[in-house]
Amino acid sequence: MTLVFATHNPNKLREIQALMPDSIQLKSLTDIGCTEDIIEDAPTIIGNALLKARYVKQKYGYDCFADDTGLEVEALDGAPGVYSARYAGEQKDANDNIDKLLSELKTKENRKAHFKTVIALIIDQKEICFEGICNGEITLGRTGSEGFGYDPVFKPEGYEETFAQMPLSLKNKIGHRGKATEKLIISLQNSQ
Ligand code: IMP
Repeated sequence: MTLVFATHNPNKLREIQALMPDSIQLKSLTDIGCTEDIIEDAPTIIGNALLKARYVKQKYGYDCFADDTGLEVEALDGAPGVYSARYAGEQKDANDNIDKLLSELKTKENRKAHFKTVIALIIDQKEICFEGICNGEITLGRTGSEGFGYDPVFKPEGYEETFAQMPLSLKNKIGHRGKATEKLIISLQNSQ
């Protein structure tokens, strides 16, 4: 079975392909000739994941899945959420985003937050969504140099290190994206 993963990133594709049942061959957006950027303008994380998967299914006809992730901070009513990539502006700069987040939280005592990943899968006409959540808190300042995005200021529950101080293998095991991916894979294995 061929399944499109709605990404242009070959590394993301390779990582997930390695976890898939042998019967599933993944293709990227580039592999199917989709070179345009899919505009992610839904107001929710699940909405953006569905929007990307539906775009591929409708325009290219392939069964597919798409993911979307955001950081939801309790004291900020769930912000930056679906706007995590461009929280501090359209330049989508991770450092600027962290500066803004730390500044918004300066006067707040509650620093609880979670990452949320949603993966939307479309097979034939059936849509299923899988969610992965990683609870934690926003630290007072940056620590660590691994990872990307908000990793230097996110400390997962039960750990003393930020995501940016952890090896990728540990982040994948306890993290939001890993959890959503695991649910996707179990569902695909069960449907084989
Ligand atoms: P995307 O949906 O995977 O492109 O994620 C959207 C934005 O959320 C990214 O640009 C990052 O700012 C943030 N983000 C997503 N996943 C992570 C993560 O694992 N660590 C830190 N930031 C993340």
